[in-house]
Amino acid sequence: MEPIYYSSTRSHDEKQSFSQAVLDGIAKDGGLFVPSRFPKVDLSNPEWLSMDYQATAQKILSLFLDDFTPEELSTCVTKAYDHKFSSPQITPITTLGAHSFLELFHGPTSAFKDMALSILPHFLKTSIRKLGVEDEIVILTATSGDTGKAALEGFADVQGVKIIVFYPTDGVSDIQKLQMTTQSGDNVAVFGIEGNFDDAQRGVKQIFLDKALGSELKKMGYAFSSANSINIGRLIPQVVYYVAAYFSLVKSNKISMGDPINIAVPTGNFGNILAAYYAKLMGMPFAKFICASNVNNVLTDFIKTGVYDTHRDFFASNTPSMDILVSSNLERFLYLLSGEDTAIVRSLMNTLQLEGRYEITPVMKHRMQDFYGGYATESETLTTISKAYDDAHYVLDPHTAVAYKVALDYTEKTGDTTHTLIAATASPFKFSDSVAKALSIPETGDAFEQMALLAQTTDTVVPTALNALKRMPVKHGDTIKCDHMLDAVRSTLKK
Ligand SMILES: *Cc1c(COP(=O)(O)O)cnc(C)c1O
Repeated sequence: MEPIYYSSTRSHDEKQSFSQAVLDGIAKDGGLFVPSRFPKVDLSNPEWLSMDYQATAQKILSLFLDDFTPEELSTCVTKAYDHKFSSPQITPITTLGAHSFLELFHGPTSAFKDMALSILPHFLKTSIRKLGVEDEIVILTATSGDTGKAALEGFADVQGVKIIVFYPTDGVSDIQKLQMTTQSGDNVAVFGIEGNFDDAQRGVKQIFLDKALGSELKKMGYAFSSANSINIGRLIPQVVYYVAAYFSLVKSNKISMGDPINIAVPTGNFGNILAAYYAKLMGMPFAKFICASNVNNVLTDFIKTGVYDTHRDFFASNTPSMDILVSSNLERFLYLLSGEDTAIVRSLMNTLQLEGRYEITPVMKHRMQDFYGGYATESETLTTISKAYDDAHYVLDPHTAVAYKVALDYTEKTGDTTHTLIAATASPFKFSDSVAKALSIPETGDAFEQMALLAQTTDTVVPTALNALKRMPVKHGDTIKCDHMLDAVRSTLKK
């Protein structure tokens, strides 16, 4: 089999190994790295059913990471998916009737971002060693709340790496903010910005592509990389849990081998749902992809009409990790929909930058048929949390509730009752205020009392790391204006 390489969504000139693509974060032409082909999962191989999460990860990742030796990969997997996860299964599944919740939030920061960000630092360390990189790597990260903490946790005190995180200061929950502002480690910096996630993401992309800054930093011995899902090293590990989940459903007799299932994902930057689509391209029998948005429903409209239009009001909602209008991973989806036509992607991205909107071709629209887009309002989100609790005493986080609501709508509209795997992306305790409101639990006004009361009322347990935040000093309280992001990077690196 020919080796896999990684090239840009915007031209086929650059061909990189996985290690180089992870280190670079973004292609030189501003596009995103994509694999040259999709390796196949052989469903008829009975071994899948006896593998644990780590073994499945080793197998799937080895298909994509051609340039890593089995030993290197095994070290990465073992160090990533260990006792940091509170469940020995890593991603346990809870089934309510025709819906199975794939719980991706048992990692150290209680959100699904841990699934990829536990292993990305190990990919990066291995790549630095393999390629003999001498520059210090600077990880620049924009976060809508969960990526920031998961990246800080993964990269804190990693040698040869510095990490700088930007988050919207008024756009995250109290617990999310504390998780970031109390982060320890000599190589970390965290800044709140006066803006939303899109501003943070745009600022980071600009810094990335700033050639003058790039050469200035090069002289100082620094090179940039990214921990956002624009980094291909974030996306590939996310494919693993969809494959592992399918085989778990077979093992627990929820489905039979080969049965199709639908996938529902609460979506922001389109990374998580794209990973599920990658799994389908590898041969997994995934039928419909239910793309669930909150009131920032730019993707719902896109899937319905083929028009992506960012000219709309931005809402700060009760699902802050999905408050996004410019979904960066959509570019990788466009690449696939266009039949890997980089000229089309380049032109669409250009139009997006100039006009804030674009429309895809009829052929591309046609290829999007296995996607269904829907959204939930803030109050529908709360009602859904309450419904799941009343029906089954299952406590959903608001983001997961958005996906559940849209999946239920989908079934009602289409009559399609195929078993549906829902990505459960965060612990309800990260958003205790909203969950308490949904379940008519009194508001306490204090994040820690609220978590305790939620646990007590629902007979669940507050994740230890979230409780521990109470005793940790705030180290990174700075808030800056968006146009000071570059200065913040400069001054952090000059220290
Ligand atoms: C990041 C995040 C999402 C959105 O995931 P994308 O990959 O950006 O689409 C949804 N829910 C939670 C809790 C998140 O942290």
